[in-house]
Amino acid sequence: MNGKETVAFIGLGIMGLPMSLNLIKAGYPLAVYNRTRSKTEALAEQGARVAGSPAEAARGASTVIVMVSDSPDVEEVVLGKGGVIEGVQEGAVVIDMSTISPSVTRRVGARLAGRGAAMLDAPVSGSSWAAADGTLSIMVGGEPEVFERSLPVLEAMGKRIIHIGPSGMGQVAKLVNQVMVAGTLAAVCEGLLLGAKAGVDLDKVFQAVTGGAANSWQLENLGSRILKRDFDPGFSVKLMLKDQRLINQAAEEMELPMPASAVARQFFYLLGQRGLGEDGTQSYIKGLEEMAGVIVGGSAEPS
Ligand code: NAP
Repeated sequence: MNGKETVAFIGLGIMGLPMSLNLIKAGYPLAVYNRTRSKTEALAEQGARVAGSPAEAARGASTVIVMVSDSPDVEEVVLGKGGVIEGVQEGAVVIDMSTISPSVTRRVGARLAGRGAAMLDAPVSGSSWAAADGTLSIMVGGEPEVFERSLPVLEAMGKRIIHIGPSGMGQVAKLVNQVMVAGTLAAVCEGLLLGAKAGVDLDKVFQAVTGGAANSWQLENLGSRILKRDFDPGFSVKLMLKDQRLINQAAEEMELPMPASAVARQFFYLLGQRGLGEDGTQSYIKGLEEMAGVIVGGSAEPS
């Protein structure tokens, strides 16, 4: 594969837009599709071909990247009417970078194989900021030779790119990641809550603990936003609810006790019920604030 081969990109949301811009920067001719067409404008300005359907985007592309929300959405844009499967060329690779169910991944992969196309599951970690910088961590499932062939495209979007195992195993790795993300975020929020209730200077605490054993991506990136009361999404509550469902399904199937994850999930349900689905996951603090009657950081009232 070289930089001259056309890549199709489907799903230009918070993640897909910066990822596709990085592919253009790396010299790949790009065809793009987004359900809400207005989001293709920035790409069109950069020379991307805007397609009217996933099938039309996939036509003539050697790699087709999908970055949509949930399992049914991947099934719709790949297997549905006007989907990738109607336009994909024999020998092409479909790389699904959305976070979805491992079993749906395998089902979609089997259908594509029937058309002579390969599939990789390649979910990512690192937020929209890492997507913009091209420094995502990418966890890949699929055939090793397809992974090798697709590395140059993945390297345009990510920094740490690991072949985890066969089809679906990239998605399993991402579930592991999300268990750790949710648990760490819960601990960060409870620590900040304790500090706020005790009246300590949280900016000073933040400086101190980010230099010690409690530091984490969640603390550095989301703890700092909580202190500024910035609840804009890098990763939205509604997508975390989707990931919590996937984690819960996996745990149920394996009858796996995951008590801390169960508590964190209840909090995300609470945020969903409060209509905070579009907020960033750092809104976890709002559930705690409501229960404890204390506000963490900033000077604003909790919203
Ligand atoms: P987002 O901003 O909500 O964007 C979702 C994209 O998918 C939009 O382009 C949306 O189109 C499209 N889409 C959804 N359902 C569709 C359907 N049925 N048919 C066609 N298009 C559909 O989400 P995001 O934050 O970019 O996340 C995308 C994926 O990456 C998710 O699986 C998420 O879990 C994962 N992820 C996100 C982050 C993060 O920090 N945000 C980090 C790691 C992984 P419209 O524009 O028309 O709505």
